[in-house]
Amino acid sequence: MNYQKPKGTNDLLPGEIEKWQFVEETARLLFADYRFSEIRTPAFEYYEVIARSVGDTTDIVSKEMYDFYDKGQRHITLRPEGTAPIVRSYVENKLYGPEYPKPYKLFYIEPMFRYERPQAGRLRQFHQIGVEVFGTENPALDVEIMAMAMDFFAQLGIQHVKLVINSLGDKESRANYRKALIDYLEPLEDQLSYDSKRRLHENPLRVLDSKEKEDQAIVASAPKILDYLNEVSLTHFNQVKKYLEALEIPYEIDHTMVRGLDYYNHTIFEIMAASPGFHGAQSTVCAGGRYDNLVEELGGPATPAFGFGMGIERLLLTLDAENIELPTMDVLDAYVVSLSDATDLESLKLVQAIRGAGYSANRDFLGRKAKAQFKSAAKEKAQLVLTMGETELAEEKVNVKEMSSGHEVTVPLEEIYENFDDVFATMLAFKKGE
Ligand code: ATP
Ligand code: MG
Repeated sequence: MNYQKPKGTNDLLPGEIEKWQFVEETARLLFADYRFSEIRTPAFEYYEVIARSVGDTTDIVSKEMYDFYDKGQRHITLRPEGTAPIVRSYVENKLYGPEYPKPYKLFYIEPMFRYERPQAGRLRQFHQIGVEVFGTENPALDVEIMAMAMDFFAQLGIQHVKLVINSLGDKESRANYRKALIDYLEPLEDQLSYDSKRRLHENPLRVLDSKEKEDQAIVASAPKILDYLNEVSLTHFNQVKKYLEALEIPYEIDHTMVRGLDYYNHTIFEIMAASPGFHGAQSTVCAGGRYDNLVEELGGPATPAFGFGMGIERLLLTLDAENIELPTMDVLDAYVVSLSDATDLESLKLVQAIRGAGYSANRDFLGRKAKAQFKSAAKEKAQLVLTMGETELAEEKVNVKEMSSGHEVTVPLEEIYENFDDVFATMLAFKKGE
């Protein structure tokens, strides 16, 4: 029997996982500077929570849900995105109460599940880093969050990204636009793709999102949503543009961008990878926007909100495309070489004492020859190697070598046990190039 992982999933193995840890740690540190707190919600939700929030006619709900009936006949779905579950949690746990900060800034780093056709940058279990902010309509918040996302890319060393924005306006603007769009598309219905014909009556804005050639020509001359924004919506959008300019963040406007989820209004944005070496179709690395009505729709008090989700797999593809080497922190402080069975016990005590002093330490467990143990030490990038044979043991001493310089000394065991800090500092002073 040949066991395999399910299609569209990945094992994240040592060697690769360090990149993930670095990306996640960078996010945690940066988001803390912006005063975000972490939230974790279940990996599965009642189907209704997602269907209601994301929208029945969206691709996510109509085609990509990983849903099933559990043994109690409950309709369950694995979480396809972060916003709906967090809004559910926000309402259920009354996170709008007076004891919580306003606005309330939350971030998550979690796996998501979508039943999609697996390909580069498109998986069935993928991972997102995302944020949600509850409780302010201020366009300065929209800009702060987009700036934070751009900061994040900059901190990772990614240079070629482009911020694209649009506005979907408020309910009134959207209704007016929807009508104008239907009026424009209806006479052209015959020329639309099969999917777009269906969308035309279910969810006409999504026609703008179509990747089909025949639709794109039609979309190019469609009325623009920006021409249908009412005064409130236009003011919000103009403020966003002004604030982005004040922070000197370059952006483009794409009036056909609508985003694949139903809950957005006003500002929406995407950050696309634009690396010269990146030709994949899956270039949207980060996507988000404002959703001022969702909290109320899920039973909470009217609460404006803004958020984004960022695909970690796509982020890593972007890092590769830009040839960015993430720093690895896998240096070992000390390796203990044990020369015979008789020194096994002392080696055990030594590595434990070194770890107890706050340093990393490793040793041989397989009774290998000294040469093989030194090889392991080198492979682990050990800074010091402590060698213990029967003679040293009898004299209660150990040989300590600083590996980059080759400098060696014999140190009483007592000193290692009592004062490893000093031994380490003294030896590291010989380190080459320091
Ligand atoms: P796309 O247009 O590529 O299908 P989407 O609109 O479905 O993207 P969102 O739901 O907004 O994407 O998710 C935000 C981010 O999550 C995307 O920009 C992408 O980085 C990532 N993402 C979405 N679906 C997948 C997937 N199946 N595999 C890997 N990453 C994904
Ligand atoms: Mg998608």
